[in-house]
Amino acid sequence: MPLAHAADVVLERLREGNERFATGNAEHPRQSANRREQMAETQSPFAVVLTCVDSRVAPEMVFDQGMGDLLIVRVPGNYVDESVLAGVEFAVNIMKVPLVVVMGHSNCGAMQLTLADVTHMSEPVPGLRESRSFGIVFRKLSPAVRSTAHPSDEGHLRRATQANVANSLRALLAESFSLAEAARRGQTKFVGGYFDIASGVVEWL
Ligand SMILES: [Zn+2]
Repeated sequence: MPLAHAADVVLERLREGNERFATGNAEHPRQSANRREQMAETQSPFAVVLTCVDSRVAPEMVFDQGMGDLLIVRVPGNYVDESVLAGVEFAVNIMKVPLVVVMGHSNCGAMQLTLADVTHMSEPVPGLRESRSFGIVFRKLSPAVRSTAHPSDEGHLRRATQANVANSLRALLAESFSLAEAARRGQTKFVGGYFDIASGVVEWL
């Protein structure tokens, strides 16, 4: 199968799975004991999903896929750092995964905290600003908050979250030579998504 075609087929598979999930018709495929035995020795996931740690954003559920289907990398606010790059590069370079999805989501706590921090909307959460590890999250997510700031607009969180997805997609390609090469050769496609928790629908960006 031509590589660009493979990415499109996979994307369609994710679209269909998300539609089943969002409409309450999930099939929970490839999750049996039999599948587990088949997968014991080796894996060949068909997509990478970089998303948030949020408990409501489980990609296998959101895309109605099974064991061994998705290689998932999760950090608060789905930003890119060295560890994230290592996970994505492992999938793309070694397992030749044709599709990488960066997926943000509605009511993201990491984005909300960063937005509050940047805009001084609310009192800082005790201990959070002093946390070295959360300082990294603020640093990574704040450019998206700043670039989408608009006074008196209620949609800031959503816009910032979507801008942050675009920033992470750019960072994957800018900070990894091998990922940029895979994209340039058409071996792997990189796409953004926004998961709305209430509706269950992933909007492709
Ligand atoms: Zn989140």
